[in-house]
Amino acid sequence: MFSRTKSCILRSLFKEFSRNNLNHKQNYCTLPCSPDPVSYTQRTTTCGSLRRADIGKIVRLCGWLQYQRQEKFLVLRDWHGLTQMIVPTDKIDIIQLLKTLSYESVLQVEGRVIPRPEGQSNPNMPTGEIEIEVKDLRVLNMAADNLPMIIRDSVTVTEQVRLENRYLDLRRHQMQQIFRLRSKMIMKMREFLANKHEFVDIETPTLFRRTPGGAKEFVVPSQYKGRFYSLPQSPQQFKQLLMVGGFDRYFQVARCYRDEGTKPDRQPEFTQLDIEMSFVDEAGIQRLIEDLLVHSWPQGLVPPRPPFPRLTYDQAMRLYGSDKPDTRFDMKISDVTNMFRHSSTEIISERLKTTDSHAAFIRFPYKDISKSAFSKMKKQAAEILSDTSTLVLYVKGDNQSDSSLSTDLYLSPDEVGVLAVGHNLAPFTVLGKLRLLIADHLASLGIEVRKKDAFNFLWVVDFPLFLPKDDGSAGLESAHHPFTDAKPEHRHLLYTNPEQVYGQHYDLVLNGSEVGGGSIRIHNAEVQRYVLENILKEDCNELEHLLTALGTGCPPHGGIALGLDRLFSIICGTPSIRDVIAFPKSSDGKDLMCHAPTPVSKDQLHQYHIQVTPDHS
Ligand code: ASP
Repeated sequence: MFSRTKSCILRSLFKEFSRNNLNHKQNYCTLPCSPDPVSYTQRTTTCGSLRRADIGKIVRLCGWLQYQRQEKFLVLRDWHGLTQMIVPTDKIDIIQLLKTLSYESVLQVEGRVIPRPEGQSNPNMPTGEIEIEVKDLRVLNMAADNLPMIIRDSVTVTEQVRLENRYLDLRRHQMQQIFRLRSKMIMKMREFLANKHEFVDIETPTLFRRTPGGAKEFVVPSQYKGRFYSLPQSPQQFKQLLMVGGFDRYFQVARCYRDEGTKPDRQPEFTQLDIEMSFVDEAGIQRLIEDLLVHSWPQGLVPPRPPFPRLTYDQAMRLYGSDKPDTRFDMKISDVTNMFRHSSTEIISERLKTTDSHAAFIRFPYKDISKSAFSKMKKQAAEILSDTSTLVLYVKGDNQSDSSLSTDLYLSPDEVGVLAVGHNLAPFTVLGKLRLLIADHLASLGIEVRKKDAFNFLWVVDFPLFLPKDDGSAGLESAHHPFTDAKPEHRHLLYTNPEQVYGQHYDLVLNGSEVGGGSIRIHNAEVQRYVLENILKEDCNELEHLLTALGTGCPPHGGIALGLDRLFSIICGTPSIRDVIAFPKSSDGKDLMCHAPTPVSKDQLHQYHIQVTPDHS
């Protein structure tokens, strides 16, 4: 489930975290916290804190039964650790009770801290020098026999079983670590924004109305016949309206909803740190986010070092074939169009006849790779690239038959080059996909090209404001969203050549994933109306409330949203964002634990004026 490096990241993160928890003096969280984790409870101590110095104390612990041995030893577990208990032979009733206990039952134990007998200390257990001589044992709740999963860090069950029994999965130490880290980090973010910089935390509605364009929304039936709410894709309009309302610094840990069907690492509901500010420019928002990340970064990990590198959209596409480049490894793409325009290799020069065609190239190390591993990689690549019309050629540095190409490309015998020839940015995006696949493939062969344990943040800036529609139909769509303003020097082009306009839009990228995005907004009602009506061909009626508000004295403003689930997933090194969401949906959008979505009763359907068409399949 978690790779070794990844669990190492977690371990190093939590070494610091648990140390702080154990000595209770220096807390990771700088907001007032309870001085110890047992105050206000019926426990006198946790299962992780007793040491040799506590010998002789009478203590009361509560937790889950982790192990039981020889009807006299038991081990109790809570988040803080494990403590061994020993039942004296004269406690016949407790010994009898032990026989009936199932693992994961919840117990309260009172007893005296005693040293473990000579030679029986367990150096692998922080509480390994002591045990509790049990005086009293109460079963607070007996667990069912044969639970569907055992609570250990190395999971032996499928993700389906974990999601069906999430409450059990969450008991695992690794999951506890993730959510406790997440909580601390969000607390630090709030502290940075609200306490340090006077941002106001404001909740915005989740029952909203349909908005034009953008991702697909979930609709919520209402009691008004034929009328529906929509769940917001983000608080975008509300945060802009808050700027109109005079809150010049807003933030919210906001739940957002997008009905994007089944995409492997997306969730229909997810959490953003949503931020908006008045009187700010692109650089101001970027500095704020860099400082916020430094402030909230978990101890035990190398903190990010601002200023983060910046790449323009164009540079990112041409060097990495992606607008979210993974810069943990080099293997950059080169534009070799001019070198090959008059190549004697006809298959290439033929394709480079038109001015909009390009040749792009990457090289990668090819030492110790077997023939079969190489053909496997090529086969996988062909599957990924099956729908492109781009020509892809592999050139081995040591292959005599390709010698002219490999000489042109300056390939050494230990290298392979990949040449892609096609239209516009296609050869770059093809090589961008291949670049990632090759890195994964090399990693599987033990050749790790990605820098280990690195957190490579960067800003991608200078995006085109509009792009041709993704579905291939005529017309333009927003590269970010329709509220993004043009670069000041390009504003006049909105009315003549909108496709040449660059936007004040910035994305934050971490290790090849987009973890944030934002923009400076259009604050002028007429410009916003023009963009919606004339460029994006949207129905302005749906946004009349926003357009009216912009006309009432709206300050210039801009903002950003950080995708917290993805950010935490990368920080914790989990294979999926589902691992950092307490109750996630499965990859096909279902809640496997409570079986949502579920049918509703006829009465409810009637109340909402809805008819479900019978399934004839
Ligand atoms: N609302 C945008 C999003 O969810 C972020 C922003 O522009 O602030 O991607």
